[in-house]
Amino acid sequence: MNDPGRPERAIVQRRARGRCTAATRVAKPQRRTRHGLTLLELLAVVLLLGILSAVVISRFLGPSDVAKRNACYAYKGEIELQAQLWFRNTGTWPGANLAAIGSDPTYFPSGLPVCPVTGSAYTFDPATQRVVGHVH
Ligand SMILES: [Zn+2]
Repeated sequence: MNDPGRPERAIVQRRARGRCTAATRVAKPQRRTRHGLTLLELLAVVLLLGILSAVVISRFLGPSDVAKRNACYAYKGEIELQAQLWFRNTGTWPGANLAAIGSDPTYFPSGLPVCPVTGSAYTFDPATQRVVGHVH
C-alpha cells in the first residue's frame, strides 16, 4: 500500500456525497508543521559561520609568517634599489648601517624599514651591493 489514506478517503467521499454522517466522515489529514531547519539551511548557516570565523580569527592573529617573510624580501629589494640610486647620485655606496640613506627622506620617506620577521635593522654590504642576511 503506497498511500492508504487517500484512496480510501476518496471512495468514502464519493459514497457519502450528499450526506455526511459520523461513520462516513473522514478526518482531514493534518498539515505537518515544520520544526527545525532543512539540510540546505543548515549548510548555509554553517558556511556563514565558517566565513565569519575565518575573517575574525585572521584579524586577531595578524599577518602570517609567510607574509612577514615576503615583506622582508620586498624590503631587501627596496633597500638595494635605493642604494643603487644613492650610488648613482652620490658616486659612493651607502655605509653598512644605512644610516645616511635611511635618514634621507628622498630615498626612504617613511624611514628605513626594519625586518618584520626578526625586528632587526638591515645592514648593507657595499662590496656585493646587497643587504646582508635575512634569509628566512
Ligand atoms: Zn628579515
